[in-house]
Amino acid sequence: CKRIVVKVGTSTIMYPNGTINLQRLEKLAFVLSDLKNQGKEVILVSSGAVGVGISRLHLSERPRTIPEQQAVASVGQTELMNLYSKFFYGYGQIIGQVLMTRDIVEFPTSRLNAINTFEQLLVKGIIPIVNENDTVAVDELDHLTKFGDNDRLSAIVAEITDADLLIMLSDIDGFYDKNPNDEPDAVLFHEIHTITDDLYALAGGKGSSYGTGGMSTKLIAANHILKNTSQMVLANGEDPTIIFDIIDGKQIGTLFS
Ligand code: ADP
Repeated sequence: CKRIVVKVGTSTIMYPNGTINLQRLEKLAFVLSDLKNQGKEVILVSSGAVGVGISRLHLSERPRTIPEQQAVASVGQTELMNLYSKFFYGYGQIIGQVLMTRDIVEFPTSRLNAINTFEQLLVKGIIPIVNENDTVAVDELDHLTKFGDNDRLSAIVAEITDADLLIMLSDIDGFYDKNPNDEPDAVLFHEIHTITDDLYALAGGKGSSYGTGGMSTKLIAANHILKNTSQMVLANGEDPTIIFDIIDGKQIGTLFS
């Protein structure tokens, strides 16, 4: 495949103690830069603005009010892009920030503008790094501006860029028949071809305090991807070089196709 979207959750780029996992960020930049050198087009969807902001501002917990969370996201997004910029620069790449809100893809003009922006970035060999614009859309109930989570956002980015593959990196090896953190005998699905209500019933909530959607938003994203006849792999982001194996077609994580 030629055009690949990679999504990383906050749990992939932060340590459980709330500091930034620099070796993960660096490895991610290394892998994506190498793929670019191989002639692939890559787009990174990265969460973490609020988490990184909390770390940067030395806060002891996530602030409670929405304006405070949005202010923290503003600091965190800048810090996060600064780090990505340094790591990608080290591997010879230029990055471009794309902040999105839900209304962008709901209205034809702004949707087309977004499509054209991605196209231009990719044509110029720039790696787009996408996040939800948390400084204006942090409220979970704000249905007009909010995607809800970056799982859905990454599926929409894959759709509007006509990507061949969405790789979703999480803190778990794939989609299981029950939450393996609670039930050790859970069995991993290697391949899923249709998203049924029965599957949604197997999807539990988020795994860490940083997690957002849990498995149900990953299934919603997969459903979106399958409707657009594309493919998605859900895999563990612990070692970002797993992306090489996924693109080589090795059986890793859960393939939605
Ligand atoms: P991320 O930050 O990567 O989006 P989430 O915490 O939102 O991560 O989602 C991953 C978590 O979903 C896992 O750590 C796991 O605890 C939980 N989970 C619930 N149900 C399942 C399931 N059926 N299969 C795999 N993981 C599950």
